[in-house]
Amino acid sequence: MPKAPEDIIRDEIRAMSGYRVPDATGMVKLDAMENPYHLPPELQAEIARIVETTALNRYPDSGAARLKVRLREVMEIPAGADVLVGNGSDEFIQTLMLSVARPGACVLVLEPSFIMFRLIATFCGVRFIGVPLKPDFTVDIEGVLAAVAEHQPPLIFIVFPNNPTGNLFDVETIARIIEAAPGIVVLDEAYHAFAGQSFMPRLQDFPNLLVMRTLSKLGLAGLRLGVLAGARAWLQHVDKVRLPYNVNVLTQLIAEKVLQHQDVLARQAAAIKAERARLFDELEHIPGVRPFPSDANFILFRIVGASEVFAGLKRRGVLIKNLHETHPALAHCLRVTVGTPDENSRFLGALKETVNAG
Ligand code: PMP
Repeated sequence: MPKAPEDIIRDEIRAMSGYRVPDATGMVKLDAMENPYHLPPELQAEIARIVETTALNRYPDSGAARLKVRLREVMEIPAGADVLVGNGSDEFIQTLMLSVARPGACVLVLEPSFIMFRLIATFCGVRFIGVPLKPDFTVDIEGVLAAVAEHQPPLIFIVFPNNPTGNLFDVETIARIIEAAPGIVVLDEAYHAFAGQSFMPRLQDFPNLLVMRTLSKLGLAGLRLGVLAGARAWLQHVDKVRLPYNVNVLTQLIAEKVLQHQDVLARQAAAIKAERARLFDELEHIPGVRPFPSDANFILFRIVGASEVFAGLKRRGVLIKNLHETHPALAHCLRVTVGTPDENSRFLGALKETVNAG
């Protein structure tokens, strides 16, 4: 008789609730920060040709050399920096944590933040240190420096602009954290396409800085491609933790092709930013709703009876994200992804109906 799962599976994993992806069939889907636009038909036809002619019997290029050349150019990765590609950027959160997971090691994150940092820390056996942001979602620099001094974290993640709050942190404040850190500081720039600032050009200034990007929010969430840039001194070791064929051949070839048409992605990001401004303005005019300014492709807002409003929207066919009770700073908060003009109007209509019905 084999033993029971309680005797075999680690306690902390049995205690975890996994990352839940709600069913969005038939809904206006504004819960996951996806780009709502499709690629133009000519580009889709080019992708179809790639799929037809690719040798699927062969393993992909483990080093993704050609794709990296394109990524360096498009993302303006400094010549002196190395680059790795991942199966989404969430894979790097895992490889980085595994790389530093000595007994007793910890990871420091400014909270509220992307929920996967805590989850991945749990299953990698790394202690999670969440340092709260101030109530206005800016960095409490004294709090962070005190936590850094106390815990000496080998790894710090800073999301820039932050998810789920949407704001960019002050650049000089972040620089102070990087300078005070005893180990690696990763700037997670998942929402870079919608923000005006980046730490990529500053890789040369800080030997312990890594910059992480993803193509997911740019319009290629289904491909799963993450990018990690920084000094070879770190990345040569992180690369050993990466599984050899983590980025499949179709992802490599299709990403390379789409990135040759950067103008298409840039136009879509511009459309999303324009809609973000309209959505913010309309939300501000709904009584009882307080949207927070965003440099990302989503807007966090506080509303009376958030959970009821979330359920009311769902009944009306609109799926957003309920963050109430996920973190004390997010009490009564919901997060909506910026969609197409039509999707945003449907969301706003449903929200007004829900508020009026309540
Ligand atoms: N970092 C942040 C801050 C995110 O919000 C997300 C996705 N929501 C990710 C990383 C992971 O993105 P992906 O794995 O699709 O690259």
